[in-house]
Amino acid sequence: MALTVYPLVIEETYPGRMSLDDARRAATVRRARRMDRILATTYPDARCELDFASPLELLVATVLSAQCTDQRVNAVTPALFARYPDAAAYASADREEIEALIQPTGFFRAKAANLQGLAQVLCDRFGGEVPESLEDLITLPGVGRKTANVVLGDAFGVPGVTVDTHVGRLARRFAWSEHSDPERVETDLMGLFPRKDWTPLSHRMIWHGRRMCHARRPACGVCPLAQQCPSFGEGPTDPIEAQRLVRTEGRR
Ligand code: SF4
Repeated sequence: MALTVYPLVIEETYPGRMSLDDARRAATVRRARRMDRILATTYPDARCELDFASPLELLVATVLSAQCTDQRVNAVTPALFARYPDAAAYASADREEIEALIQPTGFFRAKAANLQGLAQVLCDRFGGEVPESLEDLITLPGVGRKTANVVLGDAFGVPGVTVDTHVGRLARRFAWSEHSDPERVETDLMGLFPRKDWTPLSHRMIWHGRRMCHARRPACGVCPLAQQCPSFGEGPTDPIEAQRLVRTEGRR
């Protein structure tokens, strides 16, 4: 069941009129926002870790980042971006040449096909430009809601919750969502936070997931969220052992 925003003012104005369910939901909102404030203090520089200078470059880099580290994507994109400066260049390119350039990112044949496919659609339907709406972006080959929200948030400044593997895992650990379906997690998080926070919240969660709250052994013993997190103890609670699990540069 999706979580719903319940204005805190109701609780403050009519404390006796809240049902137990409303009170629990309001408490979840308060705890979620408290945790995000801690993440904001912990990761003041949290941002997209892909290198790009235009919406098209971010779209291409995000497609390449599937099953690949941002660091590896950033290693191949300078040559790729220099070779193909616009959508038309990708659409008319030699497929094997694209494949060779992006091979280190893995799944290079499928990714090259997606890049050419989406470039062709950009040329045919959007005048060669990356569209600024979620509805249009997800019509592009290889572009789902996750990629679309990255592009909207980081290239166009349109707030969006990006549910990648880290955000989904942390949302469940934090008890912000009980769902495994990314779209339902996205809806739950949108209900917990104001719209202006959706994009920076996504970055902070991704940074925390990459650096500390790992899938297998989260560094609970040194985690700044330890007192707020219902999953404290999933990883080592001994500070020395936990500190060894912290990745200062994240999985880039
Ligand atoms: S306490 Fe542990 S499970 Fe909770 S956020 Fe921190 S590292 Fe993750």
